[in-house]
Amino acid sequence: MIDHDILIVGGGLTGLRAAVGLCDRFNVGLISKVYPVRSHSICAQGGINAALTNNPDARDDSWEKHTFDTIKGSDFLADQDAVEIMCKEAIKIVYEMEHWGCPFSRFPDGTIAQRPFGGAAYPRTCYSSDITGHVLLNTLYERAVAKGVKIYPEWFVTSLCVEDGQCHGVVALDMHSGELVPVRAGVTFFGTGGYGRVYQHSTNSLTSTGSGIGMAYKAGVPLKDMEFVQFHPTTLIGTNILMTEACRGEGGYLVNNQGERFMKRYAPTAKELAPRDIVSRCIQTEINEGRGFDHPLGRYIQLDLRHLGEKKIQERLTGIRKICIDFIGIDPVDEPIPIMPCQHYSMGGIDVNERCASEVRGFYAGGECACVSVHGANRLGGNSLLETIVFGKLAAQAISEDMEGGIPKPDEKPLLKLKDEVEKKILRLTAPGREKPYQLQADLGVVMDQKVGIFRTREQLKQAVDKLPELKERYRHVGVSSPSRHMNYELINALELEYMLEVAHTIALGAMLREESRGSHFRTDFNTRNDRDWLKHTIARMGDDGGPAMSYKDVVITRYQPVERKY
Ligand SMILES: Cc1cc2nc3c(=O)[nH]c(=O)nc-3n(C[C@H](O)[C@H](O)[C@H](O)COP(=O)(O)OP(=O)(O)OC[C@H]3O[C@@H](n4cnc5c(N)ncnc54)[C@H](O)[C@@H]3O)c2cc1C
Repeated sequence: MIDHDILIVGGGLTGLRAAVGLCDRFNVGLISKVYPVRSHSICAQGGINAALTNNPDARDDSWEKHTFDTIKGSDFLADQDAVEIMCKEAIKIVYEMEHWGCPFSRFPDGTIAQRPFGGAAYPRTCYSSDITGHVLLNTLYERAVAKGVKIYPEWFVTSLCVEDGQCHGVVALDMHSGELVPVRAGVTFFGTGGYGRVYQHSTNSLTSTGSGIGMAYKAGVPLKDMEFVQFHPTTLIGTNILMTEACRGEGGYLVNNQGERFMKRYAPTAKELAPRDIVSRCIQTEINEGRGFDHPLGRYIQLDLRHLGEKKIQERLTGIRKICIDFIGIDPVDEPIPIMPCQHYSMGGIDVNERCASEVRGFYAGGECACVSVHGANRLGGNSLLETIVFGKLAAQAISEDMEGGIPKPDEKPLLKLKDEVEKKILRLTAPGREKPYQLQADLGVVMDQKVGIFRTREQLKQAVDKLPELKERYRHVGVSSPSRHMNYELINALELEYMLEVAHTIALGAMLREESRGSHFRTDFNTRNDRDWLKHTIARMGDDGGPAMSYKDVVITRYQPVERKY
């Protein structure tokens, strides 16, 4: 048994920022199934939003305007008090990261550079070329190491231990030794990232499985707004590697097979810089109506950067150019990039408040695995990196406050019991079985892509909801090829798959029940927003029959009454 005052699961931006905020006062342990700098945060390209007013076109910007853009972008589903906190804090945390050594790109006057991004009235996205996640994550990792945070890299958390409304810690698998270890903690904080890999096509790392979300749900913690799944408009055809929104922020065009910049028709003012939900639907509509290009890998739209010129492309979109050359043999300086929309981000997640506290004592969550909610029905680009660092910091503050009366000493009995259950689960998964985890995961991905996609209908959603219990039944017969516990990724995959199926079930059912269109959730059979009946958060709990039991919760409105979104 390992003991910590506070256990953080996740070595991405959220987990590291929380650890840095807590390690001076508490005995903190941080578990991550990959080395922290391999977390999905490392892939973030385009930037992080804060109303710094450095861009000459953004002198009138303010955190209040950032707040309004975020709420409008969320299609009024975000909790407005939480958005205010995030946008106000944004300015402080970007300067804090700068002072901690993060190498942002600069304007000629030496201030942090800012570029335009979708759904934002001003250019307020701070960046470092197109590797913003890379520089932020390395800065926080170095700080965590320098401060002596105890890190357990390549440890996989298999289960969250909750009993009588209290969290006692986790059971984790040391992937090197293969040992199953109960980890007892007064507070457990999850920064376990999104669930993109529940879909067949996703921009997310293979590690973004949402296992943390599913684990919390199975332990009895409710999830919020799971039906809201972000589809990014521009991902490279075939591999679905992200072509950052900064391509359009820097002036890139979207063009159909008529040579038309079609976004002018859909969003006359914002055009390519309309929010992602809208641009993704427009691209998909162009493709569906026969104005896409043909490719052996599917139909696509062109992302044209040629008019930006080689110098700007090389300087601001270095990584994008290299990815295009390496993966598809196209240099965007000379040729348009073939793109299609696909799954990108999880707006929903573990239900927490603006202090990142869940309803379970001693259990907190932040970042992409959590739903505070600051993104509501649609996240604006550049607001997620912001969320991770802001709420990593604020969670640390909230946890410190909550520990003022003393650190709880949780019970070891429920942990030992849970460890036995996990041991049995592993024995079952390592016995011969007729189902292979990768095949089942692939089948799940197809269901989610085809039935719970950009455009949704009751009929398709019902098919997904009916299919999920069938996939869960097949899961009972999963067996991995080798019983070895040493770095057995197939075993890890099989353990995660149980949670992925639960996560998928909450997404599909939430989407089927929500009979309106809002943000990323678009129902062709209910194609308008319905504030009278649906201005509310969906809450999913694990029901007695094993499926999700849904209820609803009010949205916090402070100053901004819902209006129609126009761009
Ligand atoms: C390609 C791409 C580009 C993006 N670009 C931008 C951008 O420019 N701007 C922006 O604002 N947002 C961007 N985003 C979104 C943003 O990067 C993510 O939402 C954010 O980085 C998530 O951070 P996180 O700390 O919540 O989780 P992650 O960085 O995903 O980290 C999750 C951590 O949890 C650990 N973990 C998970 N499950 C377990 C388990 N069971 N046991 C042990 N450890 C576990 C993992 O090891 C990892 O360390 C982008 C996302 C992608 C995919």
